[in-house]
Amino acid sequence: METKILTQESVADAARIIKNGGLVVMPTETVYGLGADAFNKQAVANIFRAKGRPMDNPLIVHIGAIQDLKKVAAEIPEKAIKLAKAFWPGPLTMVLPKAECVPDEVSAGLDTVAVRYPSHPLAETLILLSDTLIAAPSANLSGSPSPTELKHVIDDMNGRVDAILDGGSCEVGLESTVISLVGDVPRLLRPGGVTVDEIESVIGEIEIDPAVTDKLKEGQRAESPGMKYKHYAPQARIIIVKGSDEQYIRYVNSREQKGVGAICFDEDAEKLSVPFFSLGAKDDCQSQAKNLFSVLRSVDEAGIELAYARCPKLDGVGLAVYNRLIRAAGFEVIRLA
Ligand code: AMP
Ligand code: MG
Repeated sequence: METKILTQESVADAARIIKNGGLVVMPTETVYGLGADAFNKQAVANIFRAKGRPMDNPLIVHIGAIQDLKKVAAEIPEKAIKLAKAFWPGPLTMVLPKAECVPDEVSAGLDTVAVRYPSHPLAETLILLSDTLIAAPSANLSGSPSPTELKHVIDDMNGRVDAILDGGSCEVGLESTVISLVGDVPRLLRPGGVTVDEIESVIGEIEIDPAVTDKLKEGQRAESPGMKYKHYAPQARIIIVKGSDEQYIRYVNSREQKGVGAICFDEDAEKLSVPFFSLGAKDDCQSQAKNLFSVLRSVDEAGIELAYARCPKLDGVGLAVYNRLIRAAGFEVIRLA
């Protein structure tokens, strides 16, 4: 398949491709998404094929206006309306009871649907011009780090999709926060750019699914199917190192040999004697989020086989950075403190 690279002037061409049942990679403020008409079963099935995604991992439906929520959700609780008003358009996905018209291919057979209204102007325009809603997972090959730059998308998706819409670098850099509003108490399934504190300031206390920070036990059911897979992983082995600045630097330098590298903070860089890739300043979780997936891809490009990573803070957007990094590391952690 020939893949067209389109610029924003050609967004109408991209919309036509969606209408005709094709696949278009669209930029969003979180990561690039691999989109198709959410109501076209064949087109949705093609998303799974292009990514090599397991069919039991449901997709997020992207809408272009808050009112579109009614088109896919069978019930809209008060808290969903409050969250939509506070955070949409933006990096928050809500899981709600599914309307019948949403194909099982989108929800992977669940009776719920995940919905998000993205804030990237090109995504919004694409959805509105397509005259439908767009189902889209992240536009990476299944298991690889999500794409936050055009180059990442081309590396993974060239020849697998009809078109890629160039939107530059993704601002947030990590996938959306996913919250389920199906049970009695809202439940965070995946942390992202909208933080727990921000959500609680609008709807009160929420629960945090244990899979956000910990590995699921054998046989335990994943509330969010995507959280059960080893995810976001580069070819290199990643190990998170928990400890003080000095402990981290001493430990990593003691492991110096060919193929060993560091995923560090800016402040560590000059003290390291192995090749390093910085996530950003130690206290700047926003930059760490934005840089994480690029760093994971760069580690592979540099031929690193084992990278020791600093542990991000576990609050604010740092929780989302940790959630992705611990999966990239296959939950391998060394505790020095
Ligand atoms: P991606 O689009 O690659 O970021 O993946 C979407 C994420 O949302 C995955 O972790 C899915 O498991 C999750 N998700 C999508 N639909 C649902 C749903 N109905 N219930 C729970 N999680 C969902
Ligand atoms: Mg993904």
